[in-house]
Amino acid sequence: MAEHTSPHERHPEHPVTHHFQSVFGTEPEGVWAAPGRINLIGEHTDYNDGFVLPLAIPQHTSVAVRRRSDDLLRLHSRQADGPTVELRVADLAPGSVTGWAKYLAAVVWALREDGHLIGGADLHIDSDVPAGAGLSSSAALECAVATAYNDLNGLGLSRTELALVAQRAENEFVGVPCGVMDQMASMCCTADAALFLDTRDLGSRQVPLALDGLRLLVIDTRVKHDLADGAYAKLRAGCERAAEALGVLTLRDLPSSGLAEALDRLPAELRPLVRHVVTENARVEQAVALLSAGDPAGLGPILTAGHASLRDDYRVSCPETDLAAATAEAAGALGARMTGGGFGGSVIALVSEVMVGSVREAVLSAFARAGHRTPRTFVATASAGARRLA
Ligand code: ADP
Ligand code: MG
Repeated sequence: MAEHTSPHERHPEHPVTHHFQSVFGTEPEGVWAAPGRINLIGEHTDYNDGFVLPLAIPQHTSVAVRRRSDDLLRLHSRQADGPTVELRVADLAPGSVTGWAKYLAAVVWALREDGHLIGGADLHIDSDVPAGAGLSSSAALECAVATAYNDLNGLGLSRTELALVAQRAENEFVGVPCGVMDQMASMCCTADAALFLDTRDLGSRQVPLALDGLRLLVIDTRVKHDLADGAYAKLRAGCERAAEALGVLTLRDLPSSGLAEALDRLPAELRPLVRHVVTENARVEQAVALLSAGDPAGLGPILTAGHASLRDDYRVSCPETDLAAATAEAAGALGARMTGGGFGGSVIALVSEVMVGSVREAVLSAFARAGHRTPRTFVATASAGARRLA
């Protein structure tokens, strides 16, 4: 399989190995990595048992690990200021760890909750996934650590089982009520494909991503509005209330054909939520059909409709993501939409290869004129999921 790892990455003298040595004074037993992701379409559907279509980006989080004979966890990240964090494995409990270290401690805790009595270790983290940019640096971190523990301790867990461990870690230990998309994407995506995932039964299919002359331009707006955490929980609760009112297990069970009638039966404040989830699930299925039929340009209008739905119905976009999407389209993108949970984060634009530069320039100029921070941009290629590097 053609994995997008450079020969440099597979070299035993991986840079993360050197950093581990300088922090801990010994050699790591190995280096593992897991990627961030973008989601092509299917936003806020994963906690409604719906469909998603993410792909892994080349940016990834690496972890170098050496097991210890005691129950000490020593954690160090190149992206975190400050000294090595030291924790006792036996003391780990939800709420007991604060700051970035909780994402790592969470995975150790979740594995132990599942009966894998793993002990202490020294871990060093390095990453080029921007944190808080809607590209899922948290899942990349969790999945890298889960994969490392699985290999080192011979736990024999499948990729899906590791994704569930990582999700449990984020839900119950970190305290973020996320769905399963980010962890499944980081664990299960493969190079050159998007992952069509049914979040109800975790059945998935790799959909080859043949974009021909098109590219996916990612625009990280570099804003994250404080609203995000509380709003997410409220939206989730709204979807659950709507499903209950409609007498279905989850909004996944509402077919597009029954949407109009279902909306009539709901209080006004729940209607836009239901309309988003039902139409978004349909957009994922349309996107898969278009890619399978060799029509990547057909994705453009789907991305644009998805953004309008997030902006007008689900109301999770913000001025910066709206500006990025609208400017990209005005400059010639075939379609654009916010990707990730919202209230900031990143926008993806489907752009013909020859126009990537001009669309990028148009977005940077519009952000400068509006007085926003300069966005970070890159072209995303569909990359490999979690793996051992050294
Ligand atoms: P996203 O997943 O969209 O990037 P989150 O808020 O879910 O945003 O997760 C970001 C958090 O994950 C950071 O604030 C930090 O605590 C943790 N994190 C991610 N990557 C790293 C890293 N390389 N080193 C330390 N902490 C990290
Ligand atoms: Mg996250």
